[in-house]
Amino acid sequence: MSEAAPLYDTYMRAPLRFERGEGVWLFTESGERYLDFAAGVAVNSLGHAHPHLIGALKDQAEKVWHLSNLYEVPGQEKLSRRLTEATFADKVFFTNSGAEALECAIKTARRYQYSIGHPEKFHIVTFEGAFHGRTLATIAAGGQEKYLEGFGPKAPGFDQVPFNDMDALKAAITEATAAILIEPVQGEGGIRTVSKEFLRELREICDANGLLLIFDEVQCGVGRTGKLFAHEWAGITPDIMAVAKGIGGGFPLGACLATEEAASGMKAGTHGSTYGGNPLAMAVGGAVLDVVLEEGFLEHVRDVALVFRQGLAALQDRFPTIIEEIRGEGLMLGIKAKVPSSELLMAMRGEHVLGVPAGDNVIRLLPPLITTAEEARDGLARIERAAEALATAQLKKSA
Ligand SMILES: *Cc1c(COP(=O)(O)O)cnc(C)c1O
Repeated sequence: MSEAAPLYDTYMRAPLRFERGEGVWLFTESGERYLDFAAGVAVNSLGHAHPHLIGALKDQAEKVWHLSNLYEVPGQEKLSRRLTEATFADKVFFTNSGAEALECAIKTARRYQYSIGHPEKFHIVTFEGAFHGRTLATIAAGGQEKYLEGFGPKAPGFDQVPFNDMDALKAAITEATAAILIEPVQGEGGIRTVSKEFLRELREICDANGLLLIFDEVQCGVGRTGKLFAHEWAGITPDIMAVAKGIGGGFPLGACLATEEAASGMKAGTHGSTYGGNPLAMAVGGAVLDVVLEEGFLEHVRDVALVFRQGLAALQDRFPTIIEEIRGEGLMLGIKAKVPSSELLMAMRGEHVLGVPAGDNVIRLLPPLITTAEEARDGLARIERAAEALATAQLKKSA
């Protein structure tokens, strides 16, 4: 069936065929139900078929689908105002994806240095384990060999240092450095949280050296950690921030946010995107914000996160040969497995609960932000059964 489809072989797809979703549930073609703690890798922030998002998309679909950026686009004006009111930023550029938001962030930082008379400053310091997308610039920024191999020379201007290594970071800064780029919580790298102290020190280093601080909040942003943006926990702000995934709730949407000063080099003609800021995307992005910014919503995220946290800690205690560590912030959680994480993920799938593989032998749990405490407990019970099955198999093997 799917084996014969003339698709690129770039994805290792699980043999699951979903045709419908509702809230935290996905339904296969044959009507089986799965608890979706993958959420399209943190994209379906409000779960599936959220009535408010459906309403916004339908209303806009009957008005106008696409307008060129040759014209004023009222939906962009409205959403940019709401985003800047809710964040550090003064300016927004809309994209269709995370990688494009990062491309814009990188270009904004380089162009800023250029426009203040420092064209030699175009290097960006990044961190091991980072993931910033799959374009030629963002694979260079991410620095992972498995994504760079065979695609020609690595795009110049990205200097990588070990995760959480302040001395290495300081040593990497030169006369050619323009900016520092970091995910406040690494997603694909294995749900690794950067400490508040480290983020604050990055801010100080950037200020002292005339560098721009860029946060990649494509995965950890838009309520995922229990604040609108993850960096808010550290009480500091970046100069530039890339956002995508959760902000569209499933509609392709990304954004690059910047302060007035950081964006000052991006004059008319310096950047563009055909679809970026498409009216359908603007309508859905606005609807996502309606819900996430509602009084009490982020508090709900934090409350449900606590249910997960406590439940997962109990599972770690009970199955020390299966689960090594629980990581993460809010509803961006990681189970570091003691067995190959693919085995635990398969066992979870057997219990009809979905997670996402990550680096460092970690399984990501990225449940929709609307997950209730009851649904969290349902998921925990499924993960418990999966861990139990693996533990029983271990005992049989050693007997
Ligand atoms: C997913 C992701 C990206 C890339 O987003 P795309 O929409 O796939 O281009 C960039 N940065 C982070 C942190 C991500 O999780």
